[in-house]
Amino acid sequence: MTPTHKYDVVIFGAGAAGLTLALQLDPKFQIALISKGKLHAGSTWYAQGGISAVLDPSDSVDSHISDTQNAGAGLCKESIVRYVAEHSKEQIDWLIKLGVPFTHVEDGNEQSAYHLTREGGHSHRRVIHCKDATGHALSKTLIERVKERSNIHIFENQIAIDLITSAKLHQLPQRVLGAYVHNKETGRTETFQARSIVLASGGASKVYLYTSNPDVSTGDGIAMAWRAGCRIANMEFIQFHPTCLYHPHAKSYLISEAIRGEGGKLLLPDGTRFMEKVDPRAELAPRDIVARAIDHEMKKRGLDCVYLDISFKPELFIKSHFPTIYHRCLKFGYDMTKDPIPVVPAAHYTCGGIITNKHGQTDIDGLYAIGETAWTGMHGANRMASNSLLECLVFGAAAANHMNSQSLADCTFPALPDWDESRVTDSDEEIVVAHNWDELRRFMWDYVGIVRTNKRLERALRRVNVLSREIFDYYSNFRVTNDLIELRNLVDVAELIIRSAMLRKESRGLHYTLDYPEPDQTKPPQDTILTPPNYLEPETNTSEDVSASA
Ligand SMILES: Cc1cc2nc3c(=O)[nH]c(=O)nc-3n(C[C@H](O)[C@H](O)[C@H](O)COP(=O)(O)OP(=O)(O)OC[C@H]3O[C@@H](n4cnc5c(N)ncnc54)[C@H](O)[C@@H]3O)c2cc1C
Repeated sequence: MTPTHKYDVVIFGAGAAGLTLALQLDPKFQIALISKGKLHAGSTWYAQGGISAVLDPSDSVDSHISDTQNAGAGLCKESIVRYVAEHSKEQIDWLIKLGVPFTHVEDGNEQSAYHLTREGGHSHRRVIHCKDATGHALSKTLIERVKERSNIHIFENQIAIDLITSAKLHQLPQRVLGAYVHNKETGRTETFQARSIVLASGGASKVYLYTSNPDVSTGDGIAMAWRAGCRIANMEFIQFHPTCLYHPHAKSYLISEAIRGEGGKLLLPDGTRFMEKVDPRAELAPRDIVARAIDHEMKKRGLDCVYLDISFKPELFIKSHFPTIYHRCLKFGYDMTKDPIPVVPAAHYTCGGIITNKHGQTDIDGLYAIGETAWTGMHGANRMASNSLLECLVFGAAAANHMNSQSLADCTFPALPDWDESRVTDSDEEIVVAHNWDELRRFMWDYVGIVRTNKRLERALRRVNVLSREIFDYYSNFRVTNDLIELRNLVDVAELIIRSAMLRKESRGLHYTLDYPEPDQTKPPQDTILTPPNYLEPETNTSEDVSASA
C-alpha cells in the first residue's frame, strides 16, 4: 500500500511564494510544506537586486503601474498590476516585522529610512534590498519563522510527480484530491491528500542550456497543472539575462549589469566591440537588446561565448566595486582585473504559467498556483526588474486570505488509488535520460531561444514530439527517478513554449522572431492561452480575471 498523508493544505515549493503562504495561513490549518531539494534550493535564495514596492513619499502606485505596463509591452493586466502595487507596502511591512534585515540609508543612524535602489524600467527609487543578496536574507528569515510553527510540517527532498483529480477517477465535479510524491531518500512514492493544494514550484528556465536558475527550476508545477487539465498562458515570454559566466562548472552564475554600468565592454573573441553597431546606448541598451545582440553574434559566428571586459579599470576599483564577482571569477581561473571574462546570455525568468485569478485559484477547484509558476497577468510580455518577488509575496498573501476564509467543516478525504509500480522495473539505461536532458536543453537554446524563426520553431516541435514519445515509453516501463520526473516535465514545458511561440505571429516584449520582426498593429495585443484536451470548465467561475483572448 502507498503511504498516505492527510493535511488541510499541501504546498509544493518553499520559495518566496510558498513560504509567504505557509506563514500567512491561519494556524488552525495543518500544512505540509514540500520541497524538491533543501528548503532554500529555489530561485528565491539567489535573488540579488531586491523587491519593488511603493515606499518613497515621492513615488506612487500609479507610477509603479505605468512602469510595469511599459515593460510589459501592452499585455499587463491593469487590475492585477494595481492590486499588486497597492499591496506592496503591506507585504514589505510584514517582512520587516518578521525580521528581514533590509539595508538602511548609510548615515550612521540605525533608525534611518530603508535604502531604495533604482533598477531598469523603474522611474523612481523603488527597490528595497538586503545589500546585494536580498533573496538569501529573505529565504533565511522566512525559513526560520516557518520552523517555529508547529502546524507547518516540512518535507525536504520530495518531488511531486502528478496531481490526482476527481476527473481522473471519473468523478465530477472536477476538483483536486491529492498528489503523488516521490521521496528521494527512500525511493518510495507516497500520496498526499488535502482540501487545498498549492503549486508554488517556481519557473522553468532549466529547459534551456544556459540559465541563471538553480537546478529545481524545471517547470514541474506548470507541467503537472497542464496534465491535470489547467490552461496555461504566455509561455513564449522567457526573459534572458545577457551575461552569465561561461564555464562548465560555473552553473548559473549571473554577472551583474553593474559591470556594464561602470563601463564594461562586450567583445568578440578577437577583441572587437559589437554593441555600438546595434544600439546607440551600446552596452547600456536594455537587457533584451543586449541579450539578442550577443545571441546574434554567437549564432552567426558559431561561438561558444563572448567576452565582457572591465580590465582597463584600476585593479583597486574592480576589487572594491565587485568583490563577490571578482572572487567568484578567480575561483574559475579568470582574473577580471587582467582579462575579459567569458559570458553567455541565460534563461532567467518564466513570464507565463498556470492561469490564476487574483486569489491564486486555477481552473481546478481546490488547486492554487502562486509565484513564478503562475500567470496572473502581472508581467505581460516582459517582467520589470524586482516585480517577481513582489508578486510572490502579494499572491502568497492573497491565496492565504482566500483559504483562511473557508470553513474546514465540509472537508472529506475520499480513498485514492495507490501509486502503481507493479509493471515497472529498475532502468539499466539511465544514459537515455541523461542524453535526452542534454538534447532537449540544447535544441531549446538553439531553436527557441532569444531569436526565433518559423523554421526553427517547427524543427524544435518535431524534436520535442520524438522526445515526448520516447520519454512516455520510458516512464511507463521504468521506476521513476528525480531526473526522469524532471525530464518528463521539461519536455511538456518545452512543447508549451514552442506552441505558444508559434501562435504569436509578431515580435512583442521578450518574444522576437525574424519572420515577424514588429508588433502586430492591426489588432489589440492578445495573450496566448493554451487549453489542454482534458480541460473542464470550472463550476464556480474561478477565472473571472482571465482575459478573454485566445
Ligand atoms: C539569479 C537570480 C536573481 C534574481 N533576482 C531577482 C531580484 O532581485 N528581484 C526579483 O524580484 N526577482 C529576482 N529573481 C526572480 C525571483 O527570484 C523568482 O522569480 C522568485 O524567487 C520565484 O519564487 P517562487 O517562490 O515562485 O519559486 P522558487 O524560489 O524558485 O522556489 C521553488 C520551490 O519549488 C520547489 N519545487 C519545484 N518543483 C517541485 C516539485 N515537483 N515537488 C516539490 N517541490 C518542488 C523547489 O524545491 C523550491 O522550493 C531572480 C532570479 C534569479 C535566478
